[in-house]
Amino acid sequence: MAILVLGGAGYIGSHTVYELIGSGADVVVADNLETGHREAVHPQARFYQGDIRSRDFLDRLFQQEAIDAVIHFAANSLVGESMMNPLKYYDNNLCGTKVLLEAMVAHNVRKIVFSSTAATYGEPVNIPILETDPAHPTNTYGETKLAMERMFHWVGKAHGLRYVSLRYFNACGAHKSGKIGEMHQPETHLIPIILQVPLGKRKSVSIYGEDYDTRDGTCVRDYIHVTDLAQAHILAVEYLNRGGESDIFNLGNGVGFTVKEVIECARKVTGHPIPAISAPRRAGDPAQLVASSEKAKNILGWNPQYDDLETIIASAWNFHRKR
Ligand code: UDP
Repeated sequence: MAILVLGGAGYIGSHTVYELIGSGADVVVADNLETGHREAVHPQARFYQGDIRSRDFLDRLFQQEAIDAVIHFAANSLVGESMMNPLKYYDNNLCGTKVLLEAMVAHNVRKIVFSSTAATYGEPVNIPILETDPAHPTNTYGETKLAMERMFHWVGKAHGLRYVSLRYFNACGAHKSGKIGEMHQPETHLIPIILQVPLGKRKSVSIYGEDYDTRDGTCVRDYIHVTDLAQAHILAVEYLNRGGESDIFNLGNGVGFTVKEVIECARKVTGHPIPAISAPRRAGDPAQLVASSEKAKNILGWNPQYDDLETIIASAWNFHRKR
């Protein structure tokens, strides 16, 4: 039986496929290549190009392949874009998941691991954030991911489907081989944007807001290496295979860094001065997002390996320099 990775040509999806294949799994990848990259798909995975909003596409896929579990990354994920074009997010993230769940129920596939996000919490009431804390998203992206989690909950009750929702904090870094890494078009994420300066692609980095209530006035985020996230998906599938109940887990480092600290660390790693300029706040950005991942450690047995910011930025730098 194979594992179906939806969105397996994207950033976190492609890294998860590498780890799955490294662990000996049989892997099928589906991706519409709207934001994913065909060349990021591991050569040993069977690739299907198509969109999860197409029931015909999913039916053909489930008929052709013997799928045991689904890992679902196929969604749009940009906070800023989601505020300007919310219906794009409702359409792809929510309607796409509805079609996917209909197809899974019809083809008797009952296990799914799903990429959710820290953006489900909105402004946190506690730092570090626990899975039991209130979820009041401050942007459309987080709202659609929360709605997807609720959809899994009710569909699970009705049809015996079990899910694991993984709420990522700030995914970053790149595979140790340097073959795959983060490459969005357009790029909006902090670490790849910072690295565009030493690569000569931009003159400076903008700091979105210096008047937050944090130690240096800039936003605090919890940066977690993509290979550690990928490992968590494998552990989540194993958990469901053992009969584990549907559940939600945070995935983060438990350590927060400000935007200015990330820029300073990138200066050290690259040896480049990386000029930074002050810019207005970005809509929908909470001041601080830092995870408690104790639950994933205790229940899934997750053990992140790349928890040092310098190592994370160095792996991203290694990937971008090679491109
Ligand atoms: N950020 C910034 N300048 C940029 C890109 C991002 O100051 O050019 C800030 C952003 O406001 C947030 C943090 O960096 O506080 C991380 O943003 P990113 O988009 O990487 O991830 P998010 O937290 O939105 O998932």
